[in-house]
Amino acid sequence: MSVLKYRVAGVVVESVETVRYTYRLRAGEGAVAALEAEWHRCRFLWNEAVHQQKSGSRPTFGKLSTMLTAARKGSSWLREGSHVTQQQMLRTDGAALNHSFTVKGRGRPTFKARKKTLPSLEYTRNGFSVRDSRLVLPKGVTVPVVWSRALPSEPTSVRIYRDSLGHWYASFVVGRETSTLPDARGGIGIDWGVSTVANTTDVRFVLRYAGHRKRCAAQLAKAQRKMSRRHRKGGKVQSNRYRDASREAARLHKKAARQTQHDSRVWARRVVESHATIAVEDFKPKFLAKSTMARKASDAAIGAAKRELLERGLRAGRKVVLVQPAYTTMTCSECFARNKRLDLDVRTFRCATCGHTAGRDWNAARVILAVAERGHTSVDDVRHWQSSSEVLVGAV
Ligand SMILES: [Zn+2]
Repeated sequence: MSVLKYRVAGVVVESVETVRYTYRLRAGEGAVAALEAEWHRCRFLWNEAVHQQKSGSRPTFGKLSTMLTAARKGSSWLREGSHVTQQQMLRTDGAALNHSFTVKGRGRPTFKARKKTLPSLEYTRNGFSVRDSRLVLPKGVTVPVVWSRALPSEPTSVRIYRDSLGHWYASFVVGRETSTLPDARGGIGIDWGVSTVANTTDVRFVLRYAGHRKRCAAQLAKAQRKMSRRHRKGGKVQSNRYRDASREAARLHKKAARQTQHDSRVWARRVVESHATIAVEDFKPKFLAKSTMARKASDAAIGAAKRELLERGLRAGRKVVLVQPAYTTMTCSECFARNKRLDLDVRTFRCATCGHTAGRDWNAARVILAVAERGHTSVDDVRHWQSSSEVLVGAV
C-alpha cells in the first residue's frame, strides 16, 4: 500500500492509499472461452520464461519482451491474444523470480500445469476500459460486472481471475482517500486461543469462536464421502459426478471461510476504532494445524482475525506491536515474575510471588499489552531490562 498526492474534483487530498476493489463477473460462454484461451497463451509464455531460466540462459525482462514480439510475429495463435496481458505475464514472472532471491521462503517460479493452476490475467491501463458498466478487454471481449459498490477512482490496472468454484472476478487497483479514524486512547492486548479466538484485556472486545466450519461439517463430510465413492483410481479422468461432488465440497469450504472473514473484519474494525496501541500475540497458525478439524478451523479463524487486525491497524496509523508468545501465560501481569507452566486445564493464574490471581487468558492478554507498553516485543526483553535496571539501582 502506498500513499501519494492525488487530485479529486479540484481539491488536493494529501493522502491517497492504493487498494484493490474486487467485483464478481458475470462472464458469458463466449467471454469464458476467450479468457481461458488467453490464460493458456499466457501460461505458455510463463512456462517458456521458466524454461529459459532453468536452462541457464537467464534472459532479462527486456530480452524476454523482444522474444515475445518475435514470437507473436511468427505465431497466429499468440497474435489472437492481447500483447498487454502477455507482456504483463512475463513481468509477473520477473517479479516472482526477483522475490525468490529477496523474500525468505519464496521458491523459484515453477511451471504452471494446465489442470492444476487457476487462470489469472493482468491488464494495465492500456489493456482495458469500463464502458456502459461493462468491462471491455482487448480483442472484442466484454464482460458484465456486478458493481456491488462504486469504484472510488479511475482504476489503473485490473486482475481477472477464476476461483476454485469456477466464479470469475475482476480486482481493480484504485486510489482512495485515506479514511481518518477518530483519535483513540489507551491500548489493548490480544491473546489468541482455541475456544475463544481472541482473548482481550477489555472483555467487550473478546472474539468468540463462531464455528462456521463446524456448522457445515456434516454437509462437508457428506460431500467428501460422495467424492471418495465416485473417485476413479489410477490416474483416470474423473467423472462429471465426481466433479460435482468436489465442487460442492469446495463451495462449503469457501462459504465457511467467507463467514469467518466477515466476522473478523467486523471485529478488527471495532478494535482499531477504539484503541491507539494494539498489542498482538505473534501467533504462528501452523503450530495447531497438525491435528483435528476443530483445531484447523480455529487456526483459520485466528489467521483471518490477525490478518485483518494488522492490516486495518497499520492502515489507520495505530501503533501495532507483535509480541512473542513465549512465557506470556506463565508470567504475572502485576509483578512480571515468571511462574511454573500452567497445564491446559488450569483456567486461573495464581502468582507465587505477589499472590495476584486472574483468569488465565485475561492475564496473558495483560502481559502482552504490558510488554508492548514498555516498548518491547517479548517477555524476556522486559525481564532482562528489569534485571539490568535493578543492578543499576543497586550500584547507586
Ligand atoms: Zn505477581
